[in-house]
Amino acid sequence: MRQAVGMDQGSSYDADIDRVIVSEEQIRDKTVELAKQVAEDYRRVDGVLLVGVLKGAVMFMADFARAMGRNGRSVEMEFMAVSSYGQRSTSSGVVRILKDLDRDIAGRHVIVVEDIVDSGLTLSWLLKYLASRSAASVEVVALLRKPDAIKVNIPVKYVGFDIPNEFVVGYGLDFAERYRELPYVGVLKPSVYARA
Ligand code: 5GP
Repeated sequence: MRQAVGMDQGSSYDADIDRVIVSEEQIRDKTVELAKQVAEDYRRVDGVLLVGVLKGAVMFMADFARAMGRNGRSVEMEFMAVSSYGQRSTSSGVVRILKDLDRDIAGRHVIVVEDIVDSGLTLSWLLKYLASRSAASVEVVALLRKPDAIKVNIPVKYVGFDIPNEFVVGYGLDFAERYRELPYVGVLKPSVYARA
């Protein structure tokens, strides 16, 4: 039987991956390392508020928050969902809020938890937005960054991995809402795009 695209069949998603860019183990180790560093930097700060950017950051947010907890750092969690106008591959920097923060962040020390910084346009908008809501401080922890794709210089204090300028999926990142559940980050086979 011909296998339909996206059919839920065992390891079919793994078979769509051309190569792994960041392995599950690398993600795990890096998350622990980043959380240690952030916990240390914020040791004198009360009430750290993590703001996860849906949907891509959902896996990293969950693992990062747990790693903070293991370091004895309590955090609160908020989520925002934004969408950038224009094609995904050409982020325009004009952002629409799909889900706003549920509460006031005035005076709070905010850490934005991002899956990936590509052009940086979304994040640049988000940082201005959070500052306009009077956060006491805003820093960013991003699991992935594509240095060759950056269009705006934004201060990303904590970065997991610099990766090549290629479209990646897995660990929260999707292609047409698929592949988010993969425990690693990888590049799709060209044949996947051809049949999309
Ligand atoms: P930026 O505004 O930095 O160009 O893009 C930010 C958003 O675009 C990310 O939060 C992510 O949702 C999406 N994005 C950027 N690069 C990739 C990629 O390689 N793979 C996937 N799946 N999404 C990406």
